[in-house]
Amino acid sequence: MVTSKRRWRFLRPLRKISLYIVSVFLYYTGLLKLLLLILPRLKTNRKAVILYYHRVIDFSKVPFSRSSFYFEEIGVPVEDFERQMRYLAKNHNVISLEELARALNDGGRIPPNAVVITFDDGYEDNYVYAYLILHRYNIPATIFVIAGYVGSGRILWWDKLREVIDRANPEAFRNIDLPEGIYPQPIRQELFRLKLSTQEDKKSAYRKLTSLMKNFDPERCNLMVDDLAWRIGCRMEDLPSKYSLLSWGQVNEMMEDGISIGSHTVTHPDLTVCPYERLKEEIKASKRLIEEKIGEPVNLLAYPSGQFNDLAKQITIKSGYIIACSAEDTLPDTYNGDLFELRRIGVDNLRFKNLLGGFSKAMFGLKLLYWSLVSML
Ligand SMILES: [Zn+2]
Repeated sequence: MVTSKRRWRFLRPLRKISLYIVSVFLYYTGLLKLLLLILPRLKTNRKAVILYYHRVIDFSKVPFSRSSFYFEEIGVPVEDFERQMRYLAKNHNVISLEELARALNDGGRIPPNAVVITFDDGYEDNYVYAYLILHRYNIPATIFVIAGYVGSGRILWWDKLREVIDRANPEAFRNIDLPEGIYPQPIRQELFRLKLSTQEDKKSAYRKLTSLMKNFDPERCNLMVDDLAWRIGCRMEDLPSKYSLLSWGQVNEMMEDGISIGSHTVTHPDLTVCPYERLKEEIKASKRLIEEKIGEPVNLLAYPSGQFNDLAKQITIKSGYIIACSAEDTLPDTYNGDLFELRRIGVDNLRFKNLLGGFSKAMFGLKLLYWSLVSML
């Protein structure tokens, strides 16, 4: 298997170029628009493509390079986000998650080319940049906030880790003392092994560490990252402005203007490894906490990192949510008959590139058309 995959790897750039040429051809000849008009009307039991974003960033104001591994995976440049929303407003029916839930529950029809916009984690840039653009194009959206972090001034552990890795020198982790009481064995081993010489090394180090750490309690992760920063002499005083999360004031202002607020739990743990009581705390208590702060019912949940198990799903249903979203980057099928397992497609800084690395509206349009069509099958 691996050998045959490797054998065809050289064709990847060719596939990328061909796809780009097809997208440009379809977009600029108007065929894309025609296909969007005709194809979704051939079928009545339509589904919606649910997109999820994390951060929308004005790179001229953030002291990071656009190509930095920090943001290429989760940060969409503000000008690209605006082009995406303009395209969607013109060519798709953007509906809210609640409208989708109503249509799915009551057997109502979902409009053709339906798209739903969601945001995970509740970064402040959702308010500063995304909100204005959503408002400009009259696009409904849902922001899933981490209840225990909104307005707390705290920074998420994975953002602190990014910063620590970015600032660490190549030998930083080689000879440091890592107490077993703080660092579980697999993480200690990985830290000693990590290479940090190039941006590529750092990117892979970040990926390895986050995939190991996210199995642990977020508070333990916070402890590890704070300790690691201290041990390598990494001062992080300027972190809040780059990684700020929403305040309750911002959440309320957006909510009053029609943005839906959903729960992304209290602390963003991996729900598949949480015991029963903790699951209740994360799922049920986060709903109550947000409801107290915004004075409105909270019916929408996004599982942290899209991960859930049967128990988490049952507690979600019992807690009174009407819909819960997972994350599924490879499958465009957004609805499998289960309102508590809605799949979403992640939008990042890499997904819709032209051959020079910039954002391509034609690629965005083609992929949206593709997802709309596959989700009808
Ligand atoms: Zn998340």
